[in-house]
Amino acid sequence: MIVIDGSQGEGGGQILRNALGLSLITGQSFRIHNIRGQRERPGLMRQHLTAIEAAMAIGGATCDGAGVGAAEITFRPGSVKGGDYRFAVGTAGSAGLVLQTLLPALMIADAPSRLVLEGGTHNPYAPPFEFLERSLLPLINRMGPRVEARLIRHGFYPRGGGSMEVDITPSPLRRLDCHDRGALGATRATALVAGLPGDIVRREIMTAREVLDWPHDCFHIERLAEERGPGNVLLLEAAFEQVTEVVSGFGRFGVSAESLAKTAASRILGYMASTAFAGPYLADQLIVPFSLAGGGSFTTVKPSNHTKSAIAIAEMFLGRQWQIEAQSDGTHLLSVK
Ligand code: AMP
Repeated sequence: MIVIDGSQGEGGGQILRNALGLSLITGQSFRIHNIRGQRERPGLMRQHLTAIEAAMAIGGATCDGAGVGAAEITFRPGSVKGGDYRFAVGTAGSAGLVLQTLLPALMIADAPSRLVLEGGTHNPYAPPFEFLERSLLPLINRMGPRVEARLIRHGFYPRGGGSMEVDITPSPLRRLDCHDRGALGATRATALVAGLPGDIVRREIMTAREVLDWPHDCFHIERLAEERGPGNVLLLEAAFEQVTEVVSGFGRFGVSAESLAKTAASRILGYMASTAFAGPYLADQLIVPFSLAGGGSFTTVKPSNHTKSAIAIAEMFLGRQWQIEAQSDGTHLLSVK
């Protein structure tokens, strides 16, 4: 039985999700205590319970102790079965993070899967749908599996009600070595809005335009049906030949449209000015797939606590060591041995 302190490192939900995925794959049981110990409201929230229930359903697993607010669970995996599954978070909790839990096991499973995931599709502190579709999944597909995600309905915090479908054709994983992002192709800025005054997105796009030296036709406003809202996100995308970065800025009370857009724009500019292959979020989400491939490497900006925690959990379950080497150009090379 692997014992995990859920307050180590980043101390959030990702430690639990990665442990669930790796437990299903390796057949090793685990006990985790101090779940989300570094978060303001520690313990399991509804979205983490959905992730646990989903892992139990695809993996014939059992779990003791799971409930909203629980700080400790014991998870015993069974055998993973590909198939058709539908999981609903039931709140605006992130559907994409439920996918983060299930994808590692299903992309190397014995049969294809179709997932319908309901909840939030555009949540702060989680990968928005476009990040999954354009940044993470193309790399997973280059490793061998075929994973295709479709956004059925947008779901914003706090209303939720979003939905995505994911088709997964499994395959053994091949290692990737991702050091060179290639030439810059398209850039795109999209301000999404639902059920909020239209000047918010106009001001976001105006500010993004001032900061980013991108052609005029790169900037878009997308108005969604009123009842999808309230919700607002600014998505900034830079597609290089080998990798696409999607930076998101979520509208919230107390943060002006201008300041949200400035922050997001300076983040994408920071990425574009570096030579790193993976941005900070993509980096932590590549740790489990690359560990499972048994080799591979990528460059990234400064490794985040999420990345370091993902490495710690992958090392516990798979016994594979990661090496982090600072490069002379300010990037870091992460390699799995
Ligand atoms: P946790 O904070 O432990 O629940 O983990 C959050 C997960 O969501 C991590 O894998 C992050 O990389 C990912 N994430 C958070 N914000 C974003 C974002 N804006 N874009 C892409 N991924 C994100």
